[in-house]
Amino acid sequence: MKARTLDGKTVAARIRKTMTEEVAALTARHGRAPGLAVILVGEDAASEVYVRNKKKACVDCGIESEAFSQTLPANTTQQHLLGLIAELNANPKVDGILVQMPLPAQINPETVIEAIEPDKDVDGFHPYNVGRLAARIPSLRSCTPYGCMKLLEETGIDLHGQEVVVVGASNIVGRPMALELLLAGATVTVVHKFTRDLQSHVERADIVVAAAGKPGLVKGAWIKPGAVVIDVGINRLPDGSLTGDVEFAPAAERAGWITPVPGGVGPMTITMLLANTVQAFREHLGDAP
Ligand code: NAD
Repeated sequence: MKARTLDGKTVAARIRKTMTEEVAALTARHGRAPGLAVILVGEDAASEVYVRNKKKACVDCGIESEAFSQTLPANTTQQHLLGLIAELNANPKVDGILVQMPLPAQINPETVIEAIEPDKDVDGFHPYNVGRLAARIPSLRSCTPYGCMKLLEETGIDLHGQEVVVVGASNIVGRPMALELLLAGATVTVVHKFTRDLQSHVERADIVVAAAGKPGLVKGAWIKPGAVVIDVGINRLPDGSLTGDVEFAPAAERAGWITPVPGGVGPMTITMLLANTVQAFREHLGDAP
């Protein structure tokens, strides 16, 4: 392997250490800890793991989550969930509200996202926050793209004018990722399931961000020598192992930098959720740096 590893675990641990000190100082200064409500509806096994990891990450860095979090049954009505969100919106001790996706079929995810006060939308999914990013005045930023930007920072590469190809155009990864990169001065191409020739786009990219949820979609042989490869994909193979959207071994022979899966983007996503919660807390207290 020729590429240097963009080690999300190490970068995330460094950011969390600094944040833990910051949270301790803020908690002492204001007499309360930042509060994050994590709401899970139903019993999806993967979601349960994500929620547990998020709550544990909160405890580790001094954010209060247990007191405000709830697990609701799978048959919860949309009206009930909206009522809970309204209570959390009004609770001055709650700085962030996260509703774990996906939601059961009877609940409309857009309605739920729009019900969260934008200043408590620590996932960065509310149209207000996405719009602020599009308008170049970011506030709370979508966690996964924000984490990818932090990883790109680690390479020391100036993003101005870089050819970046984002594979995938979802609301939670591809689209906000493209907006982040545009804000950073990159030349951005977004490819998606209707794109005619994925290979020709990837081949000319200085930076590839893959977020399609298709194992091995991006072939290692397509990677431009020296390019940066950020693999957001998390796919479970039949043998139970996790793999990304990029063919790792051949890509690592050509790339300059590459993220592993797991241990690349994943740890950064939770870290940026914590960072958003601390940012919301500071703003609620009028103590923004
Ligand atoms: P999604 O299904 O909502 O979107 C997938 C996107 O990929 C779509 O825009 C689609 O058009 C595009 N796509 C599908 N097939 C394609 C193809 N053949 N060529 C080009 N584009 C294609 O998925 P998502 O929620 O954006 O997640 C994408 C992946 O990222 C998944 O593996 C998910 O598990 C992972 N993910 C990881 C993190 C993390 O923290 N590491 C966070 C969120 C999502």
